[in-house]
Amino acid sequence: MQTIQDQLTLLLRTYRTIRFCDACLALKMGAFPREVREAAVLSGNEFQISSGRCSECLQEKTVVRARAAWSLSRRPPVEEAPQQA
Ligand SMILES: [Zn+2]
Repeated sequence: MQTIQDQLTLLLRTYRTIRFCDACLALKMGAFPREVREAAVLSGNEFQISSGRCSECLQEKTVVRARAAWSLSRRPPVEEAPQQA
C-alpha cells in the first residue's frame, strides 16, 4: 500500500505545474489534510510549499506543488511550463 507521501509525490508529479491546497490534496487522496501537510513537510525537497491560490478550489491558501528540481535527480528532464511566482 502506498503511503500518503507516495501518493502525494505521484499526484504532484502528475500535475506538476498545478498547486493544490492540503484540503484538495486530501480529497483527491482520500486522506486527512493534516496527513497531507505532514507528508509535504517530510518530503521537503520534493515539494514547494507556499501561499498562493489553489488550482482546484481557487482559494488563497497554503499550497503545495512539485519542485522542478526533482526531475534532475529522478527522471529525465521534461519540458518546463512557464510558472508564475
Ligand atoms: Zn484547494
